[in-house]
Amino acid sequence: MSTANSKYTFYETVGYYFDKAAKYTPFDEGILEQIKACNHVLRMRFPVRLGKDLDRIEVVEAYRVQHSQHKTPCKGGIRYSEDVNQDEVMALASLMTYKCAIVNVPFGGAKGGIKVNTKKYTELELERITRRYTAELVKKNFIGPGIDVPAPDYGSGEREMGWIADTYMAMRAGEIDGLGCVTGKPVSQGGVRGRKEATGLGVFYGIKELCKHEEIMKKAKLAPGVEGKTVVVQGLGNVGFHSAKFFRQGGAKVIAIAEFEGAIMNPNGLNEDEVFEHRKRTGSILNFPGATNLEKSGDALELECDILVPAALENVITQDNAPKIKARIIAEAANGPVTVEADEILTQKGILVVPDIYLNAGGVTVSYFEWLKNLSHVRYGRMEKRFTENMNAHIVSQMETLTGQKIDAAEKDHILRGADEVDLVYSGLEETMITSLKDILHTMAEHPDIENMRTAAFVLGIKKVGMSYRELGIFP
Ligand code: GLU
Repeated sequence: MSTANSKYTFYETVGYYFDKAAKYTPFDEGILEQIKACNHVLRMRFPVRLGKDLDRIEVVEAYRVQHSQHKTPCKGGIRYSEDVNQDEVMALASLMTYKCAIVNVPFGGAKGGIKVNTKKYTELELERITRRYTAELVKKNFIGPGIDVPAPDYGSGEREMGWIADTYMAMRAGEIDGLGCVTGKPVSQGGVRGRKEATGLGVFYGIKELCKHEEIMKKAKLAPGVEGKTVVVQGLGNVGFHSAKFFRQGGAKVIAIAEFEGAIMNPNGLNEDEVFEHRKRTGSILNFPGATNLEKSGDALELECDILVPAALENVITQDNAPKIKARIIAEAANGPVTVEADEILTQKGILVVPDIYLNAGGVTVSYFEWLKNLSHVRYGRMEKRFTENMNAHIVSQMETLTGQKIDAAEKDHILRGADEVDLVYSGLEETMITSLKDILHTMAEHPDIENMRTAAFVLGIKKVGMSYRELGIFP
């Protein structure tokens, strides 16, 4: 089975990138084979009683794939979509392994999928499906804070994660770290502040950091800095919405947003909040006041812009549209948005593709913070916030006494403030995105014949996974 515009399936695509990168790593064939393989594939079919009076039984197809246990637990979202299939979940689970390794999050890769069209079900029906899916995972020992920790993905969010946590806790009563069985939960149910926007914020931090590199920007024929850059965002789900928000707040201009039904364009910039509200109210992104309609959603990908952010699903940039892409940077907020054939065309065209396994790792990074919070049973900032504020107040008062001058009230507030949970989460995320980019660029510098950032990111990811197998003593 290959996808419409590629001779490779999604899983084969990941394998293709892996093989290309593997030759830059020091491992022999056996180790590489183990790193590449999907360790566990759980395919489920379970019945759920649905309908208004619960009088209809539907058999739901679902998956959980654990690609690697070189570090445990395994980690990765659960996708709710009609297009879910085993190949896709295996590909996404593999990407999670390299992603976690690149950003130094100590997890193996996993992914789940439930083959449903969420629009066709009521909230109650989705809850029943989610709880039954969770029960299947518990039965098979495929979920748990030390085993495998799901999270949101396309089609799922805080609500679903809350149901999963609740089902798990009910089935494993008394497990002290039970809340760490899933991340992306509502804050009221053990979630961490900042998780919801984390992937979009990570995309922004990553691109902002990249834009500081004059050499790279020169090659991409762009001026340094994210300010003033024109951005096109494809997909107004959680990741697209927050990417657009942080780019706009960071001084870039979001000139077009695309969704299923079409795209809208305004060279003066769009406000994602207003566009979101408009879509909610009218049922369509089209006819947004002041914007021009693009009837074909895909046309947005071919617009003149500095940064193109595919933030929906895989395989949207193919050999058909890649030659027509005018963006200088492609920021892969989605997983696998570029096919193998398109990747080659874009590399030849000198378009800088910032790969998914680095750029959208903000989600899993903050999931890691949430998991740590759950295991430590304490909110970030609780211990030190007041101490910092008292200490800062003391320093400020000493400065005023010694200088005989008063510090401006607003400035004082700013200096005194101790960090809240969200401040620490943002800071940890920014640090992660900056450090990981440095590591990827270092890998590129080490191997000057690596042709693009994706291959470099894969090399880095494979090397880190391989090293931890060695640490485990699995490979003498
Ligand atoms: N589904 C997200 C991803 O593809 C997040 C995974 C997680 O937080 O575990 O990276």
